[in-house]
Amino acid sequence: MSDQPTVTAYEIATVNFDRAADLLDLSPEWRTMIRTPFREMKVEVPLYRDDGSFTTFIGYRVQHNGARGPFKGGIRFSPHVGEQEVKALAETMTYKTALVDIPFGGGKGGVNVDPRDLTQRELEHVTRRYVSRIHLILGPNRDVPAPDMGTNAQTMAWIVDQYGRQHGYSPAVVTGKPLELGGSPGRAQATGRGVMLIALAAARDHLGKAPADLRVAVQGFGNVGMNAALLLAEAGATVVAVSDHTGGFHNPGGLDVAELAAYVTRDDGDGTLAGYPGAEPVGADDFMGVDCDVLIPAAIEGAIHKDNVASVQARLVVEGANLPVTPEADRQLDERGVLVVPDILANAGGVIVSYFEWSQNFQQYRWSEADVNERLERILLKAYHDVAAKMKALDASMREAAFALAIGRVVSAEELRGSL
Ligand code: GLU
Repeated sequence: MSDQPTVTAYEIATVNFDRAADLLDLSPEWRTMIRTPFREMKVEVPLYRDDGSFTTFIGYRVQHNGARGPFKGGIRFSPHVGEQEVKALAETMTYKTALVDIPFGGGKGGVNVDPRDLTQRELEHVTRRYVSRIHLILGPNRDVPAPDMGTNAQTMAWIVDQYGRQHGYSPAVVTGKPLELGGSPGRAQATGRGVMLIALAAARDHLGKAPADLRVAVQGFGNVGMNAALLLAEAGATVVAVSDHTGGFHNPGGLDVAELAAYVTRDDGDGTLAGYPGAEPVGADDFMGVDCDVLIPAAIEGAIHKDNVASVQARLVVEGANLPVTPEADRQLDERGVLVVPDILANAGGVIVSYFEWSQNFQQYRWSEADVNERLERILLKAYHDVAAKMKALDASMREAAFALAIGRVVSAEELRGSL
């Protein structure tokens, strides 16, 4: 399996938008107004490597829509990062924050660097250089980044430090920070926790299954996939397969997820599943076809596509990643009665707890983890029920209903502002 999708993120975002815009009967003017990003920045990020060689990367920050609040969305470090991908991901954030009704717009950033190729010093340098070039468009009330693929709490710590050098102490300029620097309890697990909550709710309502009856497969074993798998196992589900870019493992009787997580996060490891000795390997081409009830693509865009969709056996797909199902695969799953819970709902737990972190930073106050988790559940399940009601009202797919709700909210904020 190639990890370079054939259907691009931007093509997926376009279909998602167009279908919902048709349901809303949106005018051509509003369609252009909503889809076109508010601002896009592209910068050079030079680096002297530790070995003395010189290289430059390209960094982006796209501010898609800020009608409902400051631009919000992660920063991705990945060799595949490009203008169109970041644009599509920024737009996805606009609808995600609108759908769960938190006071943010949507943005996304990235650098076309493979963090696995760099040392810590080099990564710090790249992060600081990137921030020193985009800092003018960031700010607690302007644009608030967060972790995404290839970045983590350490990256956010460098960002808050670099931004602070130019603007003074501003913890609310970025979320997903370490606890010591104003991070929120529960933020690191939040996206995975949200995926778990949504998977259990959808399994109950659409499959009539309790957690103990669920067999789950999770593609991607990074922050999102690993925490979703751990929390689902904790809730009583059987995790039958997991994979990352280095390979996958399958056990119809259930994998030991805690042991897998300990293996991946061990001090002398490389953060991947490579070489895990505790289960039977499963090839990337066979992974989507593993026998399970719930399939959670939590890795990259376009992971479920026209060539592997026919093999999917799950009756519920929960999008842990952003844009992981191509429109053609989505259509086929829908025809077969497989429920697909869209990314803007399924993986919104992260940005919801980012909102809590941002609020706590303004208050200079720390909530308990139990408080964070309880409020996360309340906000996310409300959005889930809103989407379920909209599905019925529109007789639409869950994706169409979610996007129609979200886009409707963005349009109405723009209308109130007198934007058109
Ligand atoms: N990168 C995450 C996402 O795609 C989190 C964004 C945030 O917390 O701002 O939703």
